[in-house]
Amino acid sequence: MKRFIFGLLALLACTQLARAQHEYTTETHIHEAGTESREHPADFQRLVLNVQFRPAKGEVFGTVTHHFRVLQEQVDSILLDAPGVKVTEVISGGKAIQFRSTDKHLVLYFSPALKWGKTDSLRINFNSTPRKGIYFIGWNDATNRSRKQIWTQGQATDHRYWFPCYDDANDKVQTEVIVNFDKAYQVLSNGRKLTERENADGTKTWHYRLDKPHAAYLLMIAIGQYAIDQRVTKSGVPLALWYYPDQKDRVANTYRYSTEIVEFMERETGIPYPWGSYAQVPVQDFIYGAMENTSATVFGDFFCLDDRGYLDRNYVNVNCHELVHQWFGDYVTHRAAKDMWLHESYATFYAKLFEGKIYGKEYYQHILRQEQNAAIQASEKDDYPIRNTHAGTSRFYPKGSAVIHMFRYAFGEEAFHKVINHYLKRHALGNVETNDLYQSFQDTLGLSPDWFFDQWLYRGGEPHYKVSWRNVANATEVNIRQIQAHSALIPLFKMPIVVEAHYTDGTSRSIREDVSAETEVLSIPNPDGRQVSFVLFDPGSNVLKRLTFAKPFEELKAQALGAPEMLDRHDAVAELRNLPAARKTELYAQIFKREKFHYVKTEIVQQLVNDSLASSREIIRLALLDPSRHVRQAVITNVKFIPSELLADYEKLLTDSSYTVIELALDKLAEQYPQNLARYLKLTEKTVGVVGHNVLIKSLEVSANAGNTRAITELVDKTTNAFEFRTRALAMQALKRLNYLDNILLDHLLDALFNPNGRLSAVAGQSLAYYNQQRKYRALIHLRMRSGKLDKAKVKQLEDALKV
Ligand SMILES: [Zn+2]
Repeated sequence: MKRFIFGLLALLACTQLARAQHEYTTETHIHEAGTESREHPADFQRLVLNVQFRPAKGEVFGTVTHHFRVLQEQVDSILLDAPGVKVTEVISGGKAIQFRSTDKHLVLYFSPALKWGKTDSLRINFNSTPRKGIYFIGWNDATNRSRKQIWTQGQATDHRYWFPCYDDANDKVQTEVIVNFDKAYQVLSNGRKLTERENADGTKTWHYRLDKPHAAYLLMIAIGQYAIDQRVTKSGVPLALWYYPDQKDRVANTYRYSTEIVEFMERETGIPYPWGSYAQVPVQDFIYGAMENTSATVFGDFFCLDDRGYLDRNYVNVNCHELVHQWFGDYVTHRAAKDMWLHESYATFYAKLFEGKIYGKEYYQHILRQEQNAAIQASEKDDYPIRNTHAGTSRFYPKGSAVIHMFRYAFGEEAFHKVINHYLKRHALGNVETNDLYQSFQDTLGLSPDWFFDQWLYRGGEPHYKVSWRNVANATEVNIRQIQAHSALIPLFKMPIVVEAHYTDGTSRSIREDVSAETEVLSIPNPDGRQVSFVLFDPGSNVLKRLTFAKPFEELKAQALGAPEMLDRHDAVAELRNLPAARKTELYAQIFKREKFHYVKTEIVQQLVNDSLASSREIIRLALLDPSRHVRQAVITNVKFIPSELLADYEKLLTDSSYTVIELALDKLAEQYPQNLARYLKLTEKTVGVVGHNVLIKSLEVSANAGNTRAITELVDKTTNAFEFRTRALAMQALKRLNYLDNILLDHLLDALFNPNGRLSAVAGQSLAYYNQQRKYRALIHLRMRSGKLDKAKVKQLEDALKV
């Protein structure tokens, strides 16, 4: 799944916090009781799901047939997951059998008991009104403006809420999905479409089958109104890229590099795309970023962007992430959740690698650094290893990806290719755990990298190196101390480290050696006594680490101007953060003109944007004209007060190519120069924005703030379920800042609060809690709470939201 979507990351970080209470139970590696692969007396081999829906009521009804083989000597009952699913009949061996529903399971009884090796089937008639697993979008929009869709999201284990199944990743099944629905819509499911048949009653029946086995959580259905862009990769994989018929102009941006990504992953893994064909479908109000259902990825339609929206954020990374899962996750699947990194770290890593190939090395390095920062931040909270159920998103995704980078750095790219190819071949269509990857190192390279697995995967933390250097006879001596606080979970680290001396004549020498002791001295030969200009420890930042390496201004200046790798130049500038602007603007002006990539420039912007020196302002003037929207955005995000001498430069941001920059600029300019508001609104009036109507909503907000009541009405309208969740959330936040509430908005807030999309309901909850603190609004909210119109569960949810 792509949870590394920024909004979602935050959401999941909360889950992680909630789990941080969990205690370590052994002295060294964390032993996790009860996290072994789930036991099951039957091997489920094939399921056939035949369903229909009443979308306005959110109802599912149909049959599911499970074909299975008995795995134990005597089996008199089988348990399926089915919380809240109503089962009306179960047929096995041609006759109705006994069953019982508990609050979590469907228990099926066999009399006489089933015998070892026997194959049998179960046909279950069921109906459900689920809150999870399947989602009905837009069917209750009274104004009929919303798209109407039905889509599923199985991961982690949510399919169980709408049909009875063995809902765990450690048993793979072939799946067949038959859907009967209104013929005005299209239906997608996993694998090949066998038939699409019109019925006499105005419905159609779609029949899909995936011939190879996969885990139940990867089953999918998406229903809506779509057109399809067909492409074929050089290797012959057909791609069906679904899109909204009214967004044909966005297809090129949305699906940019789609064929290249498939070809890239086939090269990287040495394994042809495993599933025959590949489809992708955008859906409204998706609860995550995207989901790698086998052969049919679902993603949030907020990734369908026009040319300008594409500049702010695009689908390339997520597109690649989900495609990687077709191998890492779908083809080879973890046995249990503690090995989640075997899915997510790889998907994150290869997406970064692909983007690096498209956008360049500096782009790759920038992502790597963000991953390293996320890992270090996670270490500040706890020491969980990556290989742990409670590791959390920041370890399953960014830290794991930074560790895979280190696999390649430590063992070599070609060696890593061989390990991965063997691992995928050996466990094709099966289940894996971390040790299977370790065995692949032994099988293919004859290596036992237990030290690497131990420190980076089975234990937590990262090394903190304290480094200094000095000239000695014929050499530059680099002193290294590991100063992290040791614990059973944080060892001394062993890593190959490069140290590099750069000389004033522009030449350099480097050595690479294993550093493993608490204190080590590495010596860079300097037989001809060249004068050292600056010394780099781990140039290019391959190793996840904290680094304390004090350097004088002259050395940092030389590094900022002369280090070959962008990250080392950036780090020199970052080290100068606390130096007064007057001492560094001359240097920064020079750097600003030389650097192409935004990361160094945004660091400079952050240091100078609120400084009043003329030389600082001159750099900010350049930054406002920078070709990278990251640099322009850094200015408008970080500036506290827009100086009048730069006002005209800042006002140009109102017609920027980036919607995000326009939104931020309008917000700050309207607040600081209200006398110009009419002119500002004139400049932005034709711009709606793309995701969440962001520019339009900001325009309405500043306009309402200036007394325009029509703008309020329009904002309230944007909070209804006629709109997708991003628009609704932005409009709610704007109205909260305006401190406006009426009965209509209260209706919309409650509708949003009860929405299963956490990124919408959380915003609604925050708004309600905010209004509830004010006497004039509290009465309105409590009147509604006691009106009898809300059922018990909803009253409870509202009470919980108000408590915050
Ligand atoms: Zn993922």
